[in-house]
Amino acid sequence: MRLITHNMLKCHVRGCDDSSKNFPLEIQDAQLEQIEAEKNDAFLVRMFPRLEWNALVSTAKNLSINNLPEKIPENIEEDQALLEILHTVLLETNVKEGRMVCRGCGHIYAIKNSVPNMLLAEHEI
Ligand SMILES: [Zn+2]
Repeated sequence: MRLITHNMLKCHVRGCDDSSKNFPLEIQDAQLEQIEAEKNDAFLVRMFPRLEWNALVSTAKNLSINNLPEKIPENIEEDQALLEILHTVLLETNVKEGRMVCRGCGHIYAIKNSVPNMLLAEHEI
C-alpha cells in the first residue's frame, strides 16, 4: 500500500463516524520498502489539492519520514525539491506488511503483501 492510498482510507465500521478519529488510520508494525516509480509532476500537482496534508505529515512522521513541511505548501508546481520529496513519500514508499488501527473504534486492518484488507465482518457493516 502506497502512502497516497493510505491518505484516502478511513475506517468504515458502522457507527464509527467521528471524523477526528476514524481518519487517518494509524499504521503500526510497518515493514516499508521503496518501489521506484516514474516521476510525474503533473499528476502530483493535480493530486495535491485532494491530499489531507496534516494526516500525511503525521503518518509520515510515525514512519520516521521527517522531510515534509508541517505547513501546507503553496505553489508546489514551482518547487522541484518538494515535488521530489512528495514523489518519494507518496508514490514510492510502500507498506509491505503491517496493520492500520482505527483510533475511533479500534478496528485493525491488516496489510499483507502490500494490500490492505478493508473487508469487515458482517456485524461491522
Ligand atoms: Zn473505526
